[in-house]
Amino acid sequence: MNIIDGKKLSAEIREQMTARAAAYEARVGRKAGLAVVLVGEDPASQIYVRNKIAACEQVGVRSYAYYLPADAMQAQLDELIDTLNADKNVDGILVQMPLPKHLDEQATLKRIAPDKDVDGFHAVNAGRLMQGQDCLAACTPSGIIELIRSTGTPIAGKHAVVVGRSNIVGKPVAMLLLKNDATVTICHSKTPDLASFTRQADILVAAVGRKELITGDMVKPGAVVIDVGMNRVDGKLYGDVAFESVSKIASYITPVPGGVGPMTITMLLKNTLDAAEHAER
Ligand code: NDP
Repeated sequence: MNIIDGKKLSAEIREQMTARAAAYEARVGRKAGLAVVLVGEDPASQIYVRNKIAACEQVGVRSYAYYLPADAMQAQLDELIDTLNADKNVDGILVQMPLPKHLDEQATLKRIAPDKDVDGFHAVNAGRLMQGQDCLAACTPSGIIELIRSTGTPIAGKHAVVVGRSNIVGKPVAMLLLKNDATVTICHSKTPDLASFTRQADILVAAVGRKELITGDMVKPGAVVIDVGMNRVDGKLYGDVAFESVSKIASYITPVPGGVGPMTITMLLKNTLDAAEHAER
């Protein structure tokens, strides 16, 4: 069994992003720009936003941070998004989720110009992904594809089983695997006899949010196993995969933490540079 080191891969890709960001700046005369919008003071969201801003600085992408109060009205948020949509220095826009309850997340995501939607959550980008077109794909799913590629295992022709069908992980990663010519099965909470599906997987992606749901007896020998889950129990972080038993069966496995997690912000930087370069054309 080999552990897929998400931190190492993330650092390698960030080096490539640094070179791309510098080349962009030299060509265009300004840094590629990412606007990050945070509404309210949720402590976890504050940390995510800080990490995203720090990552931008690390690779030479300019960040623009906007903090709205927790009681901001939808109209205020909409106006900010409209301004950022029109701002030529802003190539990517990210509104940190979740929003305070009185705000409409779907309407907010829809308001972002699809070509600046670096989270890849806009229905237009989800639709482009569904049609196999080039698009800004969601960051965690894109990171998962990079992690699988890093093993040298070809995706084409493999049976990939995705457990979870959320719009932010399960569905987009299934579409990306399909785009890469895997045969894809999507499982969810209503799937009877989950193990009968996961045991067929050459590539198994667990994006469920249930501590150690996937155990060694549910995995095909030699499978590549990607654990997206982040389940905090009594202050400790657990994946959706029981690492101890599955690592004895899998050929490659991502650890939690240190697997999928570090890739997400790196793919956000990649999407920002993709969006900036796309706007140049
Ligand atoms: P959601 O809660 O939105 O979706 C979970 C999915 O798992 C649903 O489709 C649900 O099915 C399915 N599911 C739940 N229980 C079972 C079960 N017993 N058997 C089979 N399927 C089941 O979660 P997310 O997709 O947002 O996140 C999944 C996990 O990934 C979480 O732990 C989250 O913290 C983590 N995550 C990690 C990221 C990272 O950067 N590392 C980024 C994003 C998420 P149904 O649709 O039927 O309800």
